[in-house]
Amino acid sequence: MIDRTIVILIDALGFALCRNRGFAPAGLDHRARIRTVLGFSQAALATIFTGLAPAEHGLWMMYSFREEGGPLRWVRILPRSVSARRRWLRRLMAWNLRRVHGVRGYFSLYDVPREVLPYVDIPARGDIFAPGGAAPARTIFDRLAEEGIPYRVWDYRSDEERSFAELEEAAAGGRERFLLLYAAGLDSDLHRFGSGDGRVAARLEGYRLLIERVAGAARRSGGARILVLGDHGMCDVRSRIDVMSRASGLGLSIPGEYIPFYDSTMARFRTLSAPARRRLEDLLADVPGGRVLGDDEMRSLGAGGAGGRFGDVVYLADPGVVISPSHMGEGRVAAMHGYHPDTEEMHSVMLANEPLPGRELELAAVAGTIYPGFVPGVEGAP
Ligand SMILES: [Zn+2]
Repeated sequence: MIDRTIVILIDALGFALCRNRGFAPAGLDHRARIRTVLGFSQAALATIFTGLAPAEHGLWMMYSFREEGGPLRWVRILPRSVSARRRWLRRLMAWNLRRVHGVRGYFSLYDVPREVLPYVDIPARGDIFAPGGAAPARTIFDRLAEEGIPYRVWDYRSDEERSFAELEEAAAGGRERFLLLYAAGLDSDLHRFGSGDGRVAARLEGYRLLIERVAGAARRSGGARILVLGDHGMCDVRSRIDVMSRASGLGLSIPGEYIPFYDSTMARFRTLSAPARRRLEDLLADVPGGRVLGDDEMRSLGAGGAGGRFGDVVYLADPGVVISPSHMGEGRVAAMHGYHPDTEEMHSVMLANEPLPGRELELAAVAGTIYPGFVPGVEGAP
């Protein structure tokens, strides 16, 4: 392990955004473009920390399917009149998932409807920012803990301003050998305002100043490798498609014939019969603004083949198109991610104060870059 490393992970820090906005903190002269993975932040963060593709670390999407009933199957016994939007029910479900099923990481029940809730599961049980967070896949935090390297992490639970102030202090103190700060403010600004908004520019300018302060503190106390990176980029939203009412118009039953799950850029379906699958695929072939991903394409994207717990049929929206309504809530968004990783705006960026292994990196290569010598692997796997 190198002397001292400081990693600043800014959610949605895209390559195109940085280039267009001239984001260039002083001293971080080395830059690489990173190809992200298909999926949302959970998939990307798990890939960053494990060095594995989503199909290998198993945390591709926040929700998977379980037609026999998942941790929330008890919701089935509630009277039909109880809406899943009721505050007490949402609190009870969250409590149940955390206390009974041991979900430690970030999840949100958003607007997953009553008839779907009993048949979903949350594969991410651990806290991805802590050792054991992707078990049985190993993360850089497992390695840090095993090697007894003093380290400190600030994640989505800590206030961003305070996190940066504490990081600056830690960089000046020089006790820890590995410091990692995760910031979600830019992601949230981009969703709300879009990439062209002045508030996004102001957020980036704020980050530039904070990063330069951290770098200055590190320099004055013996120096450190500094790496600033994003997990994915972001596309401004230009149109919406309604997949939900078309699919439910087929009149297929849940969970007898299918279970749908609508993320904001992906509609995923577990199909329980061949005719149901065929009807869905025929229908989706005619829904403009996206397409069904083939089995081979899913595999080449590292998301595993279609079929099984994340869905048998996966419809991916075109860049800039949002699936609405969805199970992610009704709020309007100005920008979104979760598109095909080859989309120009989906690439993220890495900035560093020392040379990087290349100008084009895969997201899975990040683990070995921020933690040289890290060997990705799954416990119990050959
Ligand atoms: Zn986001």
